[in-house]
Amino acid sequence: MTRRWTSVARAAGLLRADGTPGATIFAEMSALAASTGAINLGQGFPDVDGPASVAAAAQRAIADGANQYPPGPGILELREAIAEHQAARYGLVVDPGTQVLVTAGATEAIAASVLALAGPDDEVLTLEPFYDAYAAVVAMAGATHTTAPLRATPDGFRVDLAALEQAFTDRTRIVLLNTPHNPTGAVLTHDELVAVARLAQRHDALVVTDEVYEHLTLDGPHGRPPHVPIASLPGMAKRTLTISSAGKTFSFTGWKIGWVAGPEHLVAAVRTVKQFLTYVSGAPFQPAVAFALRDPGVAQWVDDLAASLARRRDLLCEGLVAAGLDVVRPDGTYFVLADARPLGHEDGAELCRALPALAGVVGVPVRAFTTAGSSADEALASWVRFTFVKREDVLERAVEGLARLGR
Ligand code: PMP
Ligand code: GLN
Repeated sequence: MTRRWTSVARAAGLLRADGTPGATIFAEMSALAASTGAINLGQGFPDVDGPASVAAAAQRAIADGANQYPPGPGILELREAIAEHQAARYGLVVDPGTQVLVTAGATEAIAASVLALAGPDDEVLTLEPFYDAYAAVVAMAGATHTTAPLRATPDGFRVDLAALEQAFTDRTRIVLLNTPHNPTGAVLTHDELVAVARLAQRHDALVVTDEVYEHLTLDGPHGRPPHVPIASLPGMAKRTLTISSAGKTFSFTGWKIGWVAGPEHLVAAVRTVKQFLTYVSGAPFQPAVAFALRDPGVAQWVDDLAASLARRRDLLCEGLVAAGLDVVRPDGTYFVLADARPLGHEDGAELCRALPALAGVVGVPVRAFTTAGSSADEALASWVRFTFVKREDVLERAVEGLARLGR
């Protein structure tokens, strides 16, 4: 039994090779930034909090007594606000009574969905590189993780459609999708989403889609790319669970209010697992997030955040290019990927350990988001992820430090 637990934990990246407990790459790199005093462009969290009106709503909720367990599925007011948001933004109709579940961040929604719907005979297919939690939870479910690569192109990171088709099998139970995509910053195009939808239908797979950056698509030379939930494609609502959270949209990543919406029977399955993970969480934050989702002033704040993030992306990308790295400009999220090979760095992980000394900056090696030995892993060996969700003066200092790399 101990052996089995150990092997699952190791497969999930929860233990190091020597059997001692491991930390996530984000915790490890934030610790490196703290111990060296380097600027932390590793872990993606804003250094400015979200709207004061939303914080005030949480404070009021505490004062008004929202301090005991909320209902298992989340408070009705928040489930209604989520349903209204899905309908108004995307024309997706969900019943707040049975088709919406509030979770402890998107992280719990993803974990509970995978644990509820996939097991030892199943494959869970993700794009690669992938958000680190996906590999961990697929391993915890005892399922097999398969991937389809995103490739760097002049048009951003794009899904390799031939590889995607090949990656599907009749054991593919879940496609765990993510758009806008962490770490590449890709916003999947309509054609890419149609390809995923067609293959999911052909192989009778479910889609679990992580859309935590749904409001953070960034303006560029071709305008601001639209975020399209795959659930809005013909025939897809009945096989799709859509996940999002308040953390990124409203710059309150520590509140950990997430949600999942979709067909009643799938949401019921996820709820069954979720009640034994956290049961419930975030009582006073739930009404505050309901307020945030409904308030027009907050919606404007979110649009302004996306505009400001586009400028900050440009600042960081220009700095990275000036320092001699190759950059693929992201269309969304908090992140940009940069290739350090032109500067003679072949190993992104080694470079990340040296970056505090070399440039006074911390980044995350892209290999933290790949499976050892895969084609994406090899292609991205010398790449580093940097976040631009930091104040402009912080990014300017980071860019000055990064300039030392090219000298
Ligand atoms: N999915 C992606 C793609 C993320 O980048 C993150 C981290 N912010 C999460 C999920 C986790 O979201 P939450 O903090 O709401 O659990
Ligand atoms: N989502 C954040 C990132 O990708 C980090 C979240 C975490 O630390 N787990 O940087």
